[in-house]
Amino acid sequence: MTSGELRRVRANVVLQTNYLHAVPRQGAGICTVCYGAIDPQYTRCFKCKSTDSAARGNVADLVVPITYRIDGQHAHDLRWYKKTDVSGTEAHRRRLAALFWYFRDHHIACVKAAAGLSSFSHVCFVPSTKTPEHTHPLQELLAPAVSTLCRIDLAVNTDVDSESREFHKDWFKLDRIPEGRRPEADVALIDDTWVTGSRAQSAAYRLKRAGARTVVVLVLARQLDSAYAHTKRILGPIRDSTYDLDDCAVHDQRRRTG
Ligand SMILES: [Zn+2]
Ligand SMILES: [Zn+2]
Repeated sequence: MTSGELRRVRANVVLQTNYLHAVPRQGAGICTVCYGAIDPQYTRCFKCKSTDSAARGNVADLVVPITYRIDGQHAHDLRWYKKTDVSGTEAHRRRLAALFWYFRDHHIACVKAAAGLSSFSHVCFVPSTKTPEHTHPLQELLAPAVSTLCRIDLAVNTDVDSESREFHKDWFKLDRIPEGRRPEADVALIDDTWVTGSRAQSAAYRLKRAGARTVVVLVLARQLDSAYAHTKRILGPIRDSTYDLDDCAVHDQRRRTG
């Protein structure tokens, strides 16, 4: 990216801080895996716990949401960027791409430190289960940002209900992980929104079973359901604080590792 492009990306993200909420953070009442709201007496949400047990531990090593999705313009962008049959989607796409590029340039070192990696070798986009015959719009949008990594393409098992909110061991298919520059496969698995994590974790399971050493899920947004009782408790502070460009969900782990 040229310095002019970098400036444009930053300016775009700065404008988004007018409505983006706090950077996802862990703490009491927040799931240590997926950043969803939970009863404060637990550390993981029911979904993350049951998925981990169904997958016998073959789940993502780390989940890093770049933002929260609650409502407003950001939720609107995440909903509309995928539509190809309406006009005006370009601005939605540009904003989401800027968020990812900015995160990649300023915080990917934090993600690597948190995952104990010196680098990623592979990248994989969670495929669309509704239209598996098409490349996912997120992949079209963000592939240039991760073009140095060896890409893994998962196939979709269409026998599984495309709208399922459950983890499925056989949702995605992969013969083998393509050979990268080194023997270990440390995969950045990218998705747009984490709701229950069932699709991303089913994809992580397939990658792990195919031999991936590490799978880190990067999601543009962790969706929060404001109607859920435990979400209501954490929502106030999240809504009240603004997005900090110099911070990320795992930023403190970078500081700890120096
Ligand atoms: Zn969770
Ligand atoms: Zn960071």
